[in-house]
Amino acid sequence: MKLDILAFGAHADDVELACSGTIIKLGALGYKTGIITLTRGEMATRGSAEIRAKEFQEASEMIGLAVHAMLDVPDGCVEDTWENKLKIIKEIRDYKPRVVFAPYWISRHPDHEETSHLVRKAAYLAGLKKLDTAQEPSRPNKVIYYQTRFEFDPSFIVDISDFHEQKVKSILAYKSQFDHPQKAEFGDEETLISHPEFMDKIATRDKQYGAYIGVRYGEPFLVREALKVDDPVAFFGPEYLDTIP
Ligand SMILES: [Zn+2]
Repeated sequence: MKLDILAFGAHADDVELACSGTIIKLGALGYKTGIITLTRGEMATRGSAEIRAKEFQEASEMIGLAVHAMLDVPDGCVEDTWENKLKIIKEIRDYKPRVVFAPYWISRHPDHEETSHLVRKAAYLAGLKKLDTAQEPSRPNKVIYYQTRFEFDPSFIVDISDFHEQKVKSILAYKSQFDHPQKAEFGDEETLISHPEFMDKIATRDKQYGAYIGVRYGEPFLVREALKVDDPVAFFGPEYLDTIP
């Protein structure tokens, strides 16, 4: 199966927190979407690998993913090795996405930072004809970074106002991780992300980025290269009037 967008995360819930609104929106536009996590998230304070796999399945259904999968990189040990690059190259060649999403390369969790580097390198290497994996070579058109804990100056912001509610539902599919009514079933140890205020912070951040583009909710993205615009007059339509600081 060919995908239009393939998002990589270190752990299940990374992509949902950062940009499931955009992925849901792209699905609604008719694009085929997928999420692949490098690890099974077995190092999380709450829940277990089995619980998180089930939650990932539920989130995937809410987002409307065509593909979701977990690779077997040990949680907490995501490292820039050839073996790990090869795992990602094989996924890219299997699904031939037009664009891939990766975490921003500066993050609190080292697994996120390494995932960022690994995905960028694998996206390039996947296009090399002489790199033999018994698959057709395929290089995505673009690596697009989503934001985790550390902020960046976005290259663009996607309006997710109509999809924010679904985004929240996709995050709360991870009942063991966040402030869900059933979270007590998964232990009484509170973490930064299971705290009731955490979901408020997500909504506040989405509103902040929405405000930058004059809409209710937005998700920021970063690309390393300059963006090509053929017709700046048409591109910067009247909606940009509201975004002049
Ligand atoms: Zn993570």
